[in-house]
Amino acid sequence: MSTIRILPDRVANQIAAGEVIERPAAVVKELVENSLDAGATRIEVEFRNGGRAYIRVEDNGTGMGRDDALLSLERHATSKIAEAADLDRLATFGFRGEALPSIASVSRFELLTRPSGDEAGTEILVNGGKFVHVRDCGRPVGTRLVVSHLFNSVPARRKFLKSDATESAHIIHCVRLYALACPQAAFTLIEDGRAIFRSPECTTTADRVAEIFGRQITDSLLVMEAVDAGLRLHGLIGRPGAGRATRHEMITFVNRRPVDNRTLSYALIESYHEALPKGRYPLAFLFLDIDPAAVDVNVHPAKREVRFRNEVQIRAFVIRSVLDRLRESADAAGVRPAPEKIPGERQGLAAPLAPAGVPSPAESRMAAPFPVYRPLVWRNQPLAPGAPAAPVSPAPPAPAPSEGKSPRIGWRYVGLAHEVYALFETDAGLVLLDRRAAHERIWYERLRQQFASGQVGTQRLLLPVPVELDAITTALLLDRLSFLQGHGFEISEFGRNFFRVEGVPEWMDPADAESFLRDLLGALREGLVAAKDLDLARDELARLASVRAVRMPEGTGEEEMTALVTQLFACQQPLTNPTGRPTFIELSHSELARRFQK
Ligand code: ADP
Ligand code: MG
Repeated sequence: MSTIRILPDRVANQIAAGEVIERPAAVVKELVENSLDAGATRIEVEFRNGGRAYIRVEDNGTGMGRDDALLSLERHATSKIAEAADLDRLATFGFRGEALPSIASVSRFELLTRPSGDEAGTEILVNGGKFVHVRDCGRPVGTRLVVSHLFNSVPARRKFLKSDATESAHIIHCVRLYALACPQAAFTLIEDGRAIFRSPECTTTADRVAEIFGRQITDSLLVMEAVDAGLRLHGLIGRPGAGRATRHEMITFVNRRPVDNRTLSYALIESYHEALPKGRYPLAFLFLDIDPAAVDVNVHPAKREVRFRNEVQIRAFVIRSVLDRLRESADAAGVRPAPEKIPGERQGLAAPLAPAGVPSPAESRMAAPFPVYRPLVWRNQPLAPGAPAAPVSPAPPAPAPSEGKSPRIGWRYVGLAHEVYALFETDAGLVLLDRRAAHERIWYERLRQQFASGQVGTQRLLLPVPVELDAITTALLLDRLSFLQGHGFEISEFGRNFFRVEGVPEWMDPADAESFLRDLLGALREGLVAAKDLDLARDELARLASVRAVRMPEGTGEEEMTALVTQLFACQQPLTNPTGRPTFIELSHSELARRFQK
C-alpha cells in the first residue's frame, strides 16, 4: 500500500493560507489588490476587532459572472497570467491565483459579484474551505467580499495574532499603502463603524499623502521626478533635515506595488547621508517605475519583496536622483542642506557632531590609528546620598564641594577640541573625553534615579504643542499614556489621531517636545520601551531621554570640564554612555612613544 498521497484541496489550501495569509491585514491586502486589478475606482474596506471578526472589501470593478466566480475559488485559478513568461509583462498586483481559495479555507467567506453584462449577481458562501452554496443575488456591478471568523478553524494561527489594536494598525497601514499606490481610486476605511479615512479620488500623490497622513507632514516634503534609461523615480521625499527615528515613513513602490526592498531603502538612506544625522531615517513616498521584465516579483508568496535584475543600476539611479533633488532644494533656499538639529544640542555645538555619518576630520584621524579601547584604572565612587542627581537642566553640573579643581582620578584639563573632545593630561598619558557621551551617562543615571524615586516634575507649556499622529502611533501612544503621564508628560487627546502636549518633564526643553515624542513613539514601535516591565520601560525612557533630549550645558571651561569628569566617575558605569559607546579613550605614554617612534 502506498504511503504517499495527494492532499485534498481543502488541506492544500489551508497550508497555502499559512504562507499567504499570516494575519488579517494580509486578507485585506489580497482583497484590495484584487479590487484594483479589477479596475475599481471606488474601494471600501471595513473591519472589526482587528479584522479577526469581520473584514469587508467592496468595489465597483468589473465583477465576475457565475462561472468565473466559482472558478476564482479554485487553486491556481487566475485571469491575470497564462504562462510564466507573462510575469515579465505583469501589470497587475495578483498573478498567483491562490489568495481567494486560501482565505476561503480559513474563514467564513462570502462572495457577491456581478459583471456589467449580467442581470443577476452571484452569491457564493464557503465556510472553512467547505462549499456551502451558490445562488443568484441582486447587487450593483462590482464585487463584495466578506471574510469573517478568520482562523477560527486554525487555532494555532489565531494564537499568533497580536492585540486587536496591533492587528488593526497593520490593516490601516496596508490600506494606506494601496491608497498611496493608486491615488486615482477613492478609498474608504472603516473600523468598528468609524471612518478612519475617506479619501476621494486624488490627482497627485501629494494630495493623497495629505489626506491620509495629515497636512502637517506635507510641509516637510519635496516633490521629485527623475527619468533615465527606462527608469522613472517619482513621488515625495523629505526635505533635508526632516528625518524620523524609524523607517516607517520611508515607503517605496515598484511599479505601484508597495514593497520592502533593501536596494531602495539603502539607496535612500545613503542619499540622505549629509542631510540627516546618523540614525535618522528619511521620509519618502517614492515610486520606481521599471520594465516589469527587469524585476522579479515572484520572490515571496505575499509579494512584499521584489528583486531587481540590475541592482547596481537601480541603486546608482536612486542615489543620483535623490541627491540632485536635495541639492536643488538647498540651492533654491540659498543654503546647503543643514543637518537636522539634534534635540538637546545647542546650535553652536551641533556642528562637530552633526555631519551625519561623515566622520569629521578629527574623527577620521582618530578612527584608525587609535589602539583598541582600553579603560583606565579608575576608582569607583558610589553616588553620595543627596549630592548627585539633583540639579535640573539646564543648570551646568556643579562640582562636588570637596573635589577642588582636579578630579580625584588626577586628570588635568588641557583644552577642548571641536567643542566635543576634552583633552586631559594624566599620570599615565593622555585622555580624550567625549563630552556629550559623558553627559549622556550622567543624565541617564540621574533620570533612572528620578524615575525610581517617582519624583518627576512637570513643566506646563504656555502654548500646548499639537501633534498629529498616524493610526499606528496613536494606538501606541494611547497604550502608554499613563506611563508617560507618570513620567512628567501631560498629553491629551483631542480628536482622532490628534494630541496636545500640555506639559513636559522638567529635564526637557519644551522646544523639543514634539520631536522627542515622535522619537519615543518610534522606539515604542520598535518594541524598545517594553510595555509590561516597568523597570525596563523606565530604563529605555531614561536612555532615550539622555541620548536624544537632554541639553548640553554651555560652559566648557576648566571648572565645568573638571566637574563633568567628577560627576562621570560618580556614576555606576562611567566607561560608556547609555548606548554602550565609550565616554573617553586613553593614550598611554608608551603608546604615544611608539607612535612618535621615540
Ligand atoms: P490572483 O489575484 O492572483 O489572480 P486571486 O485568488 O486573488 O488570484 O483571485 C482569483 C481571480 O478571481 C482573479 O484572477 C480575478 O479574475 C478574480 N477576482 C478576484 N477578486 C476580484 C474582484 N474583486 N473583482 C473581479 N474579479 C476578481
Ligand atoms: Mg489576487
